[in-house]
Amino acid sequence: MAAKEFRLASRPSGWPTEETFDFAEVTLPSPEAGQVLVRNAFMSVDPYMRGRMNDVKSYVPPYEVGKALDGGAVGEVVESAVDGVVPGDLVLHGLGWRSHALVSQFNKLDPIDGVSPSHFLGALGMPALTAYVGLLDVAEFSPGETVFVSGAAGAVGSLVGQIAKLKGAKRVIGSAGSADKVAHLTRKLGFDAAFNYRDGDVTKQLAEAAPDGVDVYFDNVGGDHLEAALWSMNRNGRVAICGSISSYNEESLPPGPRNLHQILVNRLTVRGFIVLDHNDRFPAMIAEVGPWLAGGKLVAEETVVDGLENAPSAFLGMLRGENTGKMVVRL
Ligand code: NAP
Repeated sequence: MAAKEFRLASRPSGWPTEETFDFAEVTLPSPEAGQVLVRNAFMSVDPYMRGRMNDVKSYVPPYEVGKALDGGAVGEVVESAVDGVVPGDLVLHGLGWRSHALVSQFNKLDPIDGVSPSHFLGALGMPALTAYVGLLDVAEFSPGETVFVSGAAGAVGSLVGQIAKLKGAKRVIGSAGSADKVAHLTRKLGFDAAFNYRDGDVTKQLAEAAPDGVDVYFDNVGGDHLEAALWSMNRNGRVAICGSISSYNEESLPPGPRNLHQILVNRLTVRGFIVLDHNDRFPAMIAEVGPWLAGGKLVAEETVVDGLENAPSAFLGMLRGENTGKMVVRL
């Protein structure tokens, strides 16, 4: 089977570019026992992939130069050497960035009427689990609390805010990088307040949006957003450190928040987490988020880029903020 894939051409320093990627044509053999051959229908581009382009020890191994990239993908089985899996079955697996894949580790998916399979990469997938466990388990959100989430118009952030509202938040505040995204948060996703962090000082904008303070901060951005949130946190507040995308493409790390003392003053709990450690919560997440999505109570916005050949620009666009909701590539 003739297939196409993207490889890491070189490790970027600072912002990656189209030259970071190599396109290659390969021939895949038929599946061996335990494998299925999949034609990918959608692949995910995620911020963590930027970290995997660096040669540093992290919670997942770095990509190797000259080798195919990988990441979440959903596709249709075209040939199977696994009992109970037949051509036409839909599977979720970890070999994105290619047109076809031979996979032995996959989850067979039950298609849901009216729900695009791409949502298994977003509102019913890893970003949803991240939002769900980060808010409910890590930050121990309770009804009646005020939640601030940064990166609020993205895949994880847009779900954090909506889940908080559905679970009885008193007030949900989001920050994002454009006026359109801010309008999307308040008009379409039900956020109580939102601001554009490019409009001015984040600490000031957050203080205005949260006059009674913040009980839970879900941090997708780090840097100035974390510092702003620490100034606004109420006593016994909790901060879930999910990501720090403001520094992923920096060649040298910016100074950290200057006000860590607020953690002491306000008896805060600040906890980092990695979604991979919480896979046991997947069924609980699906049981709650699935009906919200199917019932129209939760909006699962996507930005869809067409064509495997456009996967690098989708990835680069996501890092620049060109997505609203989950950025996916349709193959
Ligand atoms: P996403 O929010 O859909 O896409 C990334 C967004 O980051 C962009 O749309 C852009 O939106 C924003 N951004 C880029 N540069 C920024 C900057 N300098 N300051 C503020 N915002 C910036 O991505 P996602 O998949 O939902 O991931 C969100 C965060 O969660 C990332 O930090 C990611 O690493 C983290 N994450 C962590 C885990 C975990 O296990 N801990 C799992 C999944 C994701 P704007 O237009 O608003 O700037």
